[in-house]
Amino acid sequence: MGVLSYLSEAAHAGWTMIQGLGVTIGEFFRPPVTLQYPDEYPELPGWFRGIPVLKTDLSTGAYKCTSCAACVRACPVGAITLESHRNPETKRLEVDVFDIDMGRCMQCNLCVESCPMDAMVMDNGFEHATPNRAEIVYDFRHLLQLGLAYSSADEGAKPNPNKWIFHERTGATEKDLPPGVPLGTPPRPEPKPKPPAAKPAEGAAAEPPAAQGGGAE
Ligand code: SF4
Ligand code: SF4
Repeated sequence: MGVLSYLSEAAHAGWTMIQGLGVTIGEFFRPPVTLQYPDEYPELPGWFRGIPVLKTDLSTGAYKCTSCAACVRACPVGAITLESHRNPETKRLEVDVFDIDMGRCMQCNLCVESCPMDAMVMDNGFEHATPNRAEIVYDFRHLLQLGLAYSSADEGAKPNPNKWIFHERTGATEKDLPPGVPLGTPPRPEPKPKPPAAKPAEGAAAEPPAAQGGGAE
């Protein structure tokens, strides 16, 4: 009886070993499901949620946020800090501070869903790791820069009196925009007006111009 039991267990062990080897050999010939990141980059699905970023209306160059603070109220972890002021000329609220603490953010998407202006979107990236804790608080400029890739020119957008405030706040240029984006007005600073040319005095046209003094400043 003892010998039979021993042989039965030995046969069972051999069989399970063959089964295990079968699985190993089978996997050896299948294409790998892992990637050699960062040499190989995954194809992320469109629904992948990265971090919340801010969009710009590329037809006007103005950021879409109207400082309504709906996202601040919607965020369950208090990750968004918003400060704004009212422009006395345009009567519009303008953003002073828009920070998101990505160390707190849990990518829940509630801020995006609460935004009535379609000014926020969850980005599609995941490489936001940093060894510096201060860098995980993304400021307005950083959020707008990241949001450019998800921005578009809104058809029929109302003329925005804060034209190119986006450029003024972020320093972004066409190079930061997604390729092929139709752009209303280039995000460049207005050219500085040239000083008016001095009119030559009558009868002094033939005379050579007098040397200007005071060169040392
Ligand atoms: S995704 Fe969620 S946690 Fe992150 S900022 Fe938006 S509301 Fe807050
Ligand atoms: S909800 Fe939208 S428009 Fe309102 S403050 Fe947040 S990002 Fe700006």
